[in-house]
Amino acid sequence: MLSYRHSFHAGNHADVLKHTVQSLIIESLKEKDKPFLYLDTHAGAGRYKLSSEHAERTGEYLEGIGRIWQHDDLPAELEPYISAVKHFNQTGQLRYYPGSPLIARQLLREQDSLQLTELHPSDFPLLRSEFQKDARARVERADGYTQLKSKLPPVSRRGLILIDPPYEIKTDYQAVVTGISEGYKRFATGTYALWYPVVMRQQIKRMLRELEETGIRRILQIELAVLPDSDRRGMTASGMIVINPPWKLEQQMANVLPWLHKTLVPSGNGSTTLSWVVPE
Ligand code: SAM
Repeated sequence: MLSYRHSFHAGNHADVLKHTVQSLIIESLKEKDKPFLYLDTHAGAGRYKLSSEHAERTGEYLEGIGRIWQHDDLPAELEPYISAVKHFNQTGQLRYYPGSPLIARQLLREQDSLQLTELHPSDFPLLRSEFQKDARARVERADGYTQLKSKLPPVSRRGLILIDPPYEIKTDYQAVVTGISEGYKRFATGTYALWYPVVMRQQIKRMLRELEETGIRRILQIELAVLPDSDRRGMTASGMIVINPPWKLEQQMANVLPWLHKTLVPSGNGSTTLSWVVPE
């Protein structure tokens, strides 16, 4: 079942949180000259036209990136992410939203590499054409979870692994834990960043319990809720689980989360979370 299309949701509050965390991790990895691998298991189409029928139908980006990208008092922590967004919108109008692979492409250096997988028959060719001329990138139509076994550890022994499934099938909540555990067995020093939606809080609690049971340590949870938990509505919050976060990430998110919450949710609904699921 591949009915999920990210084009309906690109640039929403969940993407803002995800891509803020992604860009901060990439910037930290760049502090050493040594190359690293960026592995994106569920890469999507890469570029999203915000005037498309999909994006306009939901208008989600207007309450996400639309609320922050031209702010005067942008916190320094958002600079790498917003500079990538601006690269694709040089006319000053917000027309395109770069997904995680294009944000990585903007921020990575010559010596780094990208490994991207996407399964959708319509999104995969779009993604492949974005990277046709980029010698650093390998784009495959493959199941992202298999990459956690076959592509790890990277030759460089440094890397960020972004795991961003659509959760359209319930088994994704277990598959991400199994996938991370397989990846971690091969590459325990990598940074793993897992995105999750909060639709039913119990599912997330179970996923976190299962993650704890793997024995993996240094697991940081970062969450931004736009509404309180509810059984009735759709997604009320989203979060990132980061394994082996760069040492600065906790402080950076402590600085930026209140600003993001205030700016993305002017009504003041919802909340933010920054806590260790499993410490050192
Ligand atoms: N990471 C992207 C970003 O931030 O711009 C968004 C990805 S979107 C949330 C999830 C993507 O995973 C969809 O494009 C979907 O087609 C794809 N997908 C679903 N199951 C997959 C699988 N098993 N392996 C690889 N991709 C998959």
